[in-house]
Amino acid sequence: MTIYLDMDGVIADFFSEFAKRNNVEHWKSIKDKEKALVDLRYTDYFYQIDCFEPWNIPNNSQRVVDFVKSKGDWGICSSPLRGDEYNSAYWKRLWLEKWDFMPEVGNCIFTHNKHHYAINKLTGKPNILVDDKIRNIAAWDKAGGIGIRFQNDEDDIETYLFPKIEEALETVGQHNSIYF
Ligand SMILES: [Mg+2]
Repeated sequence: MTIYLDMDGVIADFFSEFAKRNNVEHWKSIKDKEKALVDLRYTDYFYQIDCFEPWNIPNNSQRVVDFVKSKGDWGICSSPLRGDEYNSAYWKRLWLEKWDFMPEVGNCIFTHNKHHYAINKLTGKPNILVDDKIRNIAAWDKAGGIGIRFQNDEDDIETYLFPKIEEALETVGQHNSIYF
């Protein structure tokens, strides 16, 4: 069983930087969001993003990573930028190294099809995904995994995320493998 973390919205504060770059208070005020996304192609944007505050150590991204690390096998499952897959994945990986959030290389996954990783290939048991996008969670659940919707700047880590992960781990523990 692997606990996968999404990056943007979970450990990387994508939207604050996105707003800043487009000179607006909130990213939802960006007039042409499609164009703003296209403008990120072939840049090192994903390397420039911050972690989530507060800045007293450990910050809120560090706390999430530390917790899943303490639970055993963990990884990153993040979507690259459309139309800029290789370049964006490159900078995302460097960002993970910069913050010392890099998992085992085999568990560092950049894909538009996260749900392909919903079932653990070794054990046949569900994997866990922490992600801020409802669509990703729905696809993950449908594929047999356990998805936890979490957005770092909205949801509480201690009272919401950690108990949810504990609960999911318990469910996985009771789960019969689909293979055996
Ligand atoms: Mg996300």
